[in-house]
Amino acid sequence: MAIIIDGKSIAEELRAEIRKEVNELKSKTGKLPGLAVILVGENPASQVYVRMKGKACEEVGIVSFQHTLHHDTSQDDLVSLIRTLNAAPEVNGILVQLPLPSHINENAVINAIDPLKDVDGFHPVNVGKMVIGDEDCFYPCTPLGCQELINRYVNDLKGKHLVMVGRSNIVGKPLANMMVQKNKRANCIVTICHTAAADIGYFTRQADILVVAAGKPNTIRGNMVKEGAVVIDVGVNRIENPTDSAKSKLVGDVNFDEVSKVAAAITPVPGGVGPLTITMLLANTLKAFKYHNKIVQ
Ligand code: NAP
Repeated sequence: MAIIIDGKSIAEELRAEIRKEVNELKSKTGKLPGLAVILVGENPASQVYVRMKGKACEEVGIVSFQHTLHHDTSQDDLVSLIRTLNAAPEVNGILVQLPLPSHINENAVINAIDPLKDVDGFHPVNVGKMVIGDEDCFYPCTPLGCQELINRYVNDLKGKHLVMVGRSNIVGKPLANMMVQKNKRANCIVTICHTAAADIGYFTRQADILVVAAGKPNTIRGNMVKEGAVVIDVGVNRIENPTDSAKSKLVGDVNFDEVSKVAAAITPVPGGVGPLTITMLLANTLKAFKYHNKIVQ
């Protein structure tokens, strides 16, 4: 039976370290890190995420500035708010909650964020630096959380085969890029799978480390995993209960019951990768604060 990777307690441990550092920096500089979060429209899931981010900031002493804009806000007005926040000294990180309403071009908005305040790690400058292995950048939060978990559960990553299922710009591509870099937290042999693969099991069965971000329940069954693999399930899928909506439940992309019998370690859903994602946003905001205040990392 696999070890269940407890993302919640790892996240709590990391948040305690962040809180401690924020306090120390406050005594040293007289300032607190600030994160601006912009929400456009009334997407209920986005509202929940924005609330969770604000609460997490509060818990570690990061000041959160929430900007809630009407669904009809123009792209120009949104970009103009971002420019104001780029110039605001009390704001160290800027996050635009995605998805945006369809009349707004997401790339144009992300490009408007100062790369030194891009704590989501989506700006092309940060993406480019990540790809060339320049660590002086912001890494996207979910891949950073996955890398943290992998490092805690795999001893020597050098030469381990990591198979990534999914090639999105927010999870699959960045994580694959991060894990192929020649450094101690990576140095893996990386394979990326997507829907063009006729048989993803052919690839996943070769994985020492299997990361799944497909967005579909049961993408990975027990017979698709090598014995002793470490499995990171990024997927979050809501399974509705047709008779009682209060009884709907969240599942990942991996069939937990089957795969936990084969793997050495596995993340549950919920309580695996999810808590790490917001924690890494806090870590990135602290990193931005240190950049802006010229504090050596
Ligand atoms: P996405 O943009 O929909 O990308 C899904 C990727 O998986 C695509 O590259 C797709 O291939 C691939 N894929 C789908 N089904 C597949 C299959 N059967 N075999 C092989 N590849 C398959 O999704 P995403 O934004 O990366 O998110 C993935 C999941 O992670 C979602 O459930 C999302 O909610 C969750 N998520 C969780 C967190 C967290 O903090 N826990 C953060 C972000 C995302 P193609 O490119 O060929 O279409």
